[in-house]
Amino acid sequence: MRRNRRVKIVATLGPASTNEETMRRLFEAGADVFRVNMSHATHDGLREVHGIVRKLETEFSRPIGILVDLQGPKLRIGKIESGTMRLTKGDIVSFVRREDVGGLGRVHLPHPEIFESVENGHMLLLDDGKLRLRVVESSDVRIDAEVLNSGLLGSRKGISLPDTVLPFGALTDKDRADIECANSIGVSWLALSFVQRPADIEEARKLSKNRSAIMAKIEKPTAIHFLKEIVELADGIMVARGDLGVEMPVEKVPGLQKQISRAARNAGKPVVVATQMLESMIYAPVPTRAEVSDVATAVFEGTDAVMLSAESAVGKFPVEAVATMDRIAIEVEHDPLHAAIIHAQRIDPQATGADAISAAARTVAETLDLAAIVCYTASGATALRAARERPQQPILALTPIPRTARKLSIVWGQHCVLADDPINLDDMVAKACRIAYEEGFAKAGQQVIVTAGVPLGKSGATNLLRIAEVDPTADDDP
Ligand code: PEP
Repeated sequence: MRRNRRVKIVATLGPASTNEETMRRLFEAGADVFRVNMSHATHDGLREVHGIVRKLETEFSRPIGILVDLQGPKLRIGKIESGTMRLTKGDIVSFVRREDVGGLGRVHLPHPEIFESVENGHMLLLDDGKLRLRVVESSDVRIDAEVLNSGLLGSRKGISLPDTVLPFGALTDKDRADIECANSIGVSWLALSFVQRPADIEEARKLSKNRSAIMAKIEKPTAIHFLKEIVELADGIMVARGDLGVEMPVEKVPGLQKQISRAARNAGKPVVVATQMLESMIYAPVPTRAEVSDVATAVFEGTDAVMLSAESAVGKFPVEAVATMDRIAIEVEHDPLHAAIIHAQRIDPQATGADAISAAARTVAETLDLAAIVCYTASGATALRAARERPQQPILALTPIPRTARKLSIVWGQHCVLADDPINLDDMVAKACRIAYEEGFAKAGQQVIVTAGVPLGKSGATNLLRIAEVDPTADDDP
């Protein structure tokens, strides 16, 4: 089976979808990667998802990615005695370190690091930014802040500090335990929440022992500040628009989405646009026109993947949401302006053999109107450089390593097939042609272009480019 689009779809699992039958329907409707949100999932739940995904892989003979999204250091206020507390504009509220039940202008804040780092003038955002306060005075034990807009504050609500660099990494003890569980079963991607600094990525990579690719969720102003370095160190990037729109003014999010997408594309790393893409489909079988336009904008931008969160995790129409995204993506990618927009954003190849070969492969494929670009890839590096070119032709990535195939399931334009390494050049060409034919990418007599690094299996050594004609009667079994 093959998809009729380049952009990939990530579907978050939850109570509405974590069962074999719904996951099968989600995959058939277009989900390429399943996301497990560790803010809600248990280790047993993750193991269950893993088992179902591997079963579906066998059933459909397609690699399917699993993205484990770590909770990260989500900060919360303590308990409020009466359950809620009214904050009135102009009031001063005291956040206290001492364990205390909140009420009467006092709120327990069980995070000593905040008291050590916050400064006068910094913003405190409560309950996803619904309540905004500005710090007027702070000490090691108390923070006084002025309420900027009135509202009700509930117990244990989240608190964000967009101006404050907090002295802890992106990984909590719970995240470490979740990484260990992910390591034990083997998942394609780990997403890190609330990344602040490049060192956060290094720490996660060490803990994951290179078993999973690392995706940095960009949702904090400090991550924007270090964007270049984070993109360099991570394997992929997520535009986490939910928290980004809390930590920064919402009107800045579209511009940041473009900035982050282009930084990732420039580096040849996959970028996922996430959150509220088809939000109204949590309750309705059809999206709003604005949501359709939002998905379309990401597709026109050439993003690698678009993501569903609550729509597929807890919504009433998870399968319809995936099918809707699939239809939007196909329509946009067939729009005559799509290729021109993608082409206009093309970036120069870097001075490496892999980039020179990938750029040449795209030029040859487009000039000769070839059926597909077929690349042999061990780590996935060659396939990623091919995707960075955003060619008009489909990219078939052939790899003997299941982990590589699953990792690439989130990458723009990749149709990955598990195949043994060829034993010589003739075998390489014959195998590429046969798979392109069998997978429905090339007809008899059409030509494909093959790229590889010879000797095979050595990462980052792309040095071969061959045009070959598809002959289904040829025998590639040497
Ligand atoms: C987001 O904030 O947009 C996001 C994807 O993260 P989470 O769903 O974990 O809040």
